[in-house]
Amino acid sequence: MLIVHNPVHHLHAGRHEMYRGRLVPCHEVPDRLDHVLAELRRRPLGELREPGEVPMEVLRRIHSGRYLDFLSRAWDDWVALDPANAQVDALPSVWPVRGFRDDVLPDNFAARMGLFSFDAGTPLTAGTWQAARAGAACAVEAAQAVASGGERSAFALTRPPGHHAGADFFGGYCFLNNAALAAQTLRDRGFERVAVLDVDYHHGNGTQSIFYARGDVLTVSLHGDPRTEYPFYLGHADERGTGAGEGFNLNLPLPRGTDFARWRVALAAGIDAIGRFGAQALVVSLGVDTFEGDPISSFALRSADYLQVGRDIARLQLPTVFVFEGGYAVAEVGVNAVNVLEGFEKGAA
Ligand SMILES: [Zn+2]
Repeated sequence: MLIVHNPVHHLHAGRHEMYRGRLVPCHEVPDRLDHVLAELRRRPLGELREPGEVPMEVLRRIHSGRYLDFLSRAWDDWVALDPANAQVDALPSVWPVRGFRDDVLPDNFAARMGLFSFDAGTPLTAGTWQAARAGAACAVEAAQAVASGGERSAFALTRPPGHHAGADFFGGYCFLNNAALAAQTLRDRGFERVAVLDVDYHHGNGTQSIFYARGDVLTVSLHGDPRTEYPFYLGHADERGTGAGEGFNLNLPLPRGTDFARWRVALAAGIDAIGRFGAQALVVSLGVDTFEGDPISSFALRSADYLQVGRDIARLQLPTVFVFEGGYAVAEVGVNAVNVLEGFEKGAA
């Protein structure tokens, strides 16, 4: 398995996120990725590679031009407001909800930031754009390696994560949707039907919204029930796609406290749907915040269970791109993520 890792991920290191009326230290920290990399050095699964640059036109296959313009300049705009801003992260504080207009791009920076985001938990920092763009490059390069047939599977090891980011918004610690970029790259390289399987604790709202009206990319997400779990406003079982995408989105929401036995039944349903769809390639949004010790999530998977997760996914026998998403029990993130990959490799052998 080829591993494409983001060498500049640490440039995105938020100080605080808004949580229940307080600014608290960020859960999405550089140590997360470093633990996975350390585990991959202990248990090598294949070549470790740094990505080349991803062209902007590749990002525009998934993200809107005005959103990319905003993101690429946001930090400079933020500091231009006041040089003292360089000492604090930018966080949105105002949003256009129902009935407001989103077609007029405001001049005011806070208003622009709100237009392109959906929460106050996702700080934008000096290095966010550089780290996110290098992460997108990891996902695209991993997909290219699989599409060329040179690799049966690849892992885009990057942060910030991506599955909450939509075509024109950030949130949930995510800025560019790495899994969507990988799926689009597989489509552009000739795979006619691509599936995205999102096993992160949280619903992959960004990925769902990007492909919701498309029948060529099946999106499947197993996640905490949005009635109680972030991102709250999407991820219900009755969201099945629209237009040409009708029937090509599958949500499998599960209650807090779900253990591996119950979770695995939902995984099997997702895998069956991917098989019925006739997917020719697979992207896995690999979050390990389903772990019992995760500080912001409420499932009860144990470290050894992740080996079985990988074996179950391998049963599809598809060219597969794994993309790193969430997982906030920092010390265990490496073992849990690499367990999935190792289980997959052994299952595919
Ligand atoms: Zn998550």
